[in-house]
Amino acid sequence: GNKKAEASTANDGIPGVKYIVAVSSGKGGVGKSTFAVNLACAFSQILEKEGKKTGIMDCDIYGPSVPLMLGISGRPYVEGDSLIPMEGHNLSVMSMGFLVDEDTPVVWRGPMVMKTIQQFSQNVKWGELELLVVDLPPGTGDAQLSLVQTIPLSGAVIVTTPQAVSTTVAKRGARMLEKTNVRILGVAENMSYLEGPDGSRQNIFGEGGGQKTADDLGTELLGQIPLDQSIREGGDAGKPIVLSDPDSTAAQSFHAIAQSL
Ligand code: ADP
Repeated sequence: GNKKAEASTANDGIPGVKYIVAVSSGKGGVGKSTFAVNLACAFSQILEKEGKKTGIMDCDIYGPSVPLMLGISGRPYVEGDSLIPMEGHNLSVMSMGFLVDEDTPVVWRGPMVMKTIQQFSQNVKWGELELLVVDLPPGTGDAQLSLVQTIPLSGAVIVTTPQAVSTTVAKRGARMLEKTNVRILGVAENMSYLEGPDGSRQNIFGEGGGQKTADDLGTELLGQIPLDQSIREGGDAGKPIVLSDPDSTAAQSFHAIAQSL
């Protein structure tokens, strides 16, 4: 879309990758990874028509969930010093989850976190990508900072729920990004409403948090994603709703945000 082209600099940090859009949240559990996966799928559907490829990099070293959400498992090939991304749903995919055992807890010490993150983010052979979605770890600690300093981001989307507690931490996260000169592309409000069979909308987690976050950050609300059982089921089953039920309200809401970027 326009925004991506208008102000973001095409990045020369990762060879072959044109735009890198990060998905960030102040805390876990707001649906950041769900959003990142469905956004990547929406981009992939849009860009595929132009013969262009989309990728997703899961940088959540503490709880990588992208492989499960996309139903992709296994170990990536290693070619020299480089990791070759896995492929699935027409996406190139790399995740810390491919590199660590599911049942083994990862206990990282500070310097190890930085080093791992740097190697991980710099040594993937992505090939030609129009757009790479980066799922950042939640929060505003060293891991996040290290990542946004290592990966030359075109911009970031902030995910929040409508709740005050979520919007407060979302803003903290956004400020950290701004300090490192990452451009905030906008706010996505997740779990915004529950739609009844009659089309009525219930605001389970309150109302207006996404808009307020956007206003406070001087950016725009990109869209609202409904609270929807099939979004959760799609994540659990490795079949993102954008792909499995593209005509649903939920899928359309992800698509609208991808189009707006
Ligand atoms: P985060 O990455 O912020 O920790 P996740 O994406 O892992 O959050 O989502 C947490 C849980 O909430 C998952 O089980 C996911 O399927 C579910 N979820 C996320 N967004 C929605 C939504 N809009 N509707 C229903 N369930 C959702």
